[in-house]
Amino acid sequence: MHPCSLANELREKYSEFNNIPVLMVSMLLKDLHIQVDKWPIRQQCCSGMLWNFKGQWHILVNSNHSKTRRLFTIGHELYHYFAHRHIKNRFACFNVGSSATGWMEQDANRFSAEILMPRDIVTDMVQKYPPAVAAKVLGVSEQAMNYRIKELNLK
Ligand SMILES: [Zn+2]
Repeated sequence: MHPCSLANELREKYSEFNNIPVLMVSMLLKDLHIQVDKWPIRQQCCSGMLWNFKGQWHILVNSNHSKTRRLFTIGHELYHYFAHRHIKNRFACFNVGSSATGWMEQDANRFSAEILMPRDIVTDMVQKYPPAVAAKVLGVSEQAMNYRIKELNLK
């Protein structure tokens, strides 16, 4: 399923969390029984992983990365879970959020942006607050917010 369609579908399903994407992500992880672990991965470029171990899905995020970056990585890995888990049962993701190579990585980044920075919320927020404030409220980095604003042609 296309990243945007999936994000929209989930936002409809979890409409009570529509204004708080980070809570929606927590609920999703809980409902899907995906376990999230943090680990200080020495390789800085390694953002995270998704894998299945004895029937249990796990997301591992690099604890050397900032909280905002880790959240974006979780969104990214969630897309692998939804869209690609039938193709592979182990994903290792590098430099999540920046220029991705390969359609699976690109789609996963797109989904994470869509789920954490929905168009309507970002549009509404940037009219009221500076990007840094909007970023803080949504739990994303200022850099990710600025990128999203540009992508949505809001500034
Ligand atoms: Zn990935």
